[in-house]
Amino acid sequence: MAYKITLIPGDGTGPEISEATVRVVEATGVSIEWEVQEAGLDAAEKYGSVLPDQVLESVRRNKVAIKGPITTPRGGGFRSVNVALRKALDLYACLRPAKSYPGVRSRYQDIDLIVVRENHEDLYAGIEFERGDPAIRAVSEICETNGFPAIREDAGLSLKVISEFGTQRVARFAFEHARRYGRRKVTAIAKDNIMKFTDGLFFAVARKVAEGYPEIQYEEMLVDNMAMQLVQKPELYDVLLLPNLYGDVLSDLCAGLVGGLGVAPGANIGDEIALFEPVHGSAPKYAGQNKVNPMAMMFSGVLMLRYLGEGQAADRLENAMATVISEGKSLTYDMKPSRDDPTAVGTSQVADAIIEKLK
Ligand code: NAD
Repeated sequence: MAYKITLIPGDGTGPEISEATVRVVEATGVSIEWEVQEAGLDAAEKYGSVLPDQVLESVRRNKVAIKGPITTPRGGGFRSVNVALRKALDLYACLRPAKSYPGVRSRYQDIDLIVVRENHEDLYAGIEFERGDPAIRAVSEICETNGFPAIREDAGLSLKVISEFGTQRVARFAFEHARRYGRRKVTAIAKDNIMKFTDGLFFAVARKVAEGYPEIQYEEMLVDNMAMQLVQKPELYDVLLLPNLYGDVLSDLCAGLVGGLGVAPGANIGDEIALFEPVHGSAPKYAGQNKVNPMAMMFSGVLMLRYLGEGQAADRLENAMATVISEGKSLTYDMKPSRDDPTAVGTSQVADAIIEKLK
């Protein structure tokens, strides 16, 4: 029986890399019925919303989705569709593997890290007050009553919120993932020496969850130290568990360790629903040029196949991609030694080369 999966091609270069990804996933032989759904700028023109209801309904029904990037215009307009999707579907865990493949240009080899980032809370919860908002005065008065300094009148305010509920479920996700894939260690990362009641709570809850997984080593690290450690000794780490803001920053650092955005896959996962997507954005300046690298979305497809329980197909696709990378021929400009390398191929030719290896 075919899996029914929602496919959101996105905008900018999204449709091109989605098309290439669909072709390589299908070439593994796994039978998939794609339910294509539009979201983003084009959907806004057609349906009056960047995230039409039918998109959410489709993902809720199928439980598994894969999407290309979606543009978020700067300065007003609408809030990010990507964030809206994660919130509306309660996708609380962001999963970002960072793995080295021979042939990808990078300062490091043999990196195999998994970043698990909490997706809803922390300073990214969006609870913010603009400078001059009377609410800031009210908060300032509460601060003063509790013996803290007043908030300056010319300040803006963003609230950092970390709960037991939010931390517990993302910590469980990290440990379950570690157990399922035979990983040896989970490192929780925060800054509890400064933020005792938010980051301190994050550590306390993660520590408690760790007790349920005695076969997996657990440790805690301060985020500033961790930034240095990851650059100096990345091989010491395995699964990294972080609150939202630190997770955002360090997951990009980890992507940088293994060759950057062109090969960085991701997933946003909740209790019942999973949405797979590349880490990079819509790279609009290259839209329609058959130019950008489809590998980040293809590796997201590998994650999706694993999530579906199609481990063999996932391994075959990953190996075919690894072979194409190590041969160094059928690669897009960003993976070549120089950006204007005349041997660079286009998005769809990368898919062709991978499909050839899958035969
Ligand atoms: P971007 O990731 O689109 O581009 C950053 C740089 O990386 C650019 O030089 C781009 O050309 C290059 N790049 C990106 N993907 C590439 C690929 N597959 N192959 C080769 N080169 C690639 O980031 P940006 O320019 O900051 O964002 C563009 C738009 O995408 C913005 O509207 C942003 O909000 C949105 N965005 C969406 C998502 C998402 O859908 N999840 C994520 C990040 C950014």
